[in-house]
Amino acid sequence: MTYDENICVRCLACVSESEFGGVTYQRGRIFFDETKPEDWENIISICPVAAIKKDAGASDKQS
Ligand code: SF4
Repeated sequence: MTYDENICVRCLACVSESEFGGVTYQRGRIFFDETKPEDWENIISICPVAAIKKDAGASDKQS
């Protein structure tokens, strides 16, 4: 997942949508904790300016 702070308008929709503390707002910034069991697809889709995106090509697993 990627988050572009420059695109984000701090509408806090993603924070409201977060149920397990995966998205928080602290000191004027949005923080994402991908280890939390959020419905990330839903959080990504709710952002009005598409500041949150799924990682493109992040499926390579390095071992
Ligand atoms: S939903 Fe999108 S624009 Fe709104 S606060 Fe979250 S990342 Fe920013």
